[in-house]
Amino acid sequence: MSDCIFCKIVQKEIPADVVFENEKILVFKDINPKAPVHCLVIPKKHIPSLNETKEEDKELLGELMLVARDVAKEMKIDESGYKLSVHTGEGGGQEVFHIHIHILGGWS
Ligand code: 5GP
Ligand code: ZN
Repeated sequence: MSDCIFCKIVQKEIPADVVFENEKILVFKDINPKAPVHCLVIPKKHIPSLNETKEEDKELLGELMLVARDVAKEMKIDESGYKLSVHTGEGGGQEVFHIHIHILGGWS
């Protein structure tokens, strides 16, 4: 998707503070953090939102959750606790239409 900002981050056309990357998934810090720790977990494949996921995406969706778990541990917020959120559609507060999981934590 040529006009998708997160695809541009995947393609390294736009810089981001990357905290994890493998062949299918990228995690980077949110540019406008709403918590002391705020990262976004995205698939490299362009899927606009949870609404467009298919049965064949089941494994990828599971991997996104496991990567979120590992990043939370890496960021040392696993024991204090954190929230994961997936904004879906405009009414759900979604602004960037490339599916992503917010990891929010680090409050004292
Ligand atoms: P949404 O509301 O779509 O779930 O969240 C999109 C998130 O992406 C927002 O928290 C916003 O701050 C973040 N964001 C938007 N553009 C960029 C960008 O270019 N770089 C990074 N790192 N985060 C972005
Ligand atoms: Zn995209």
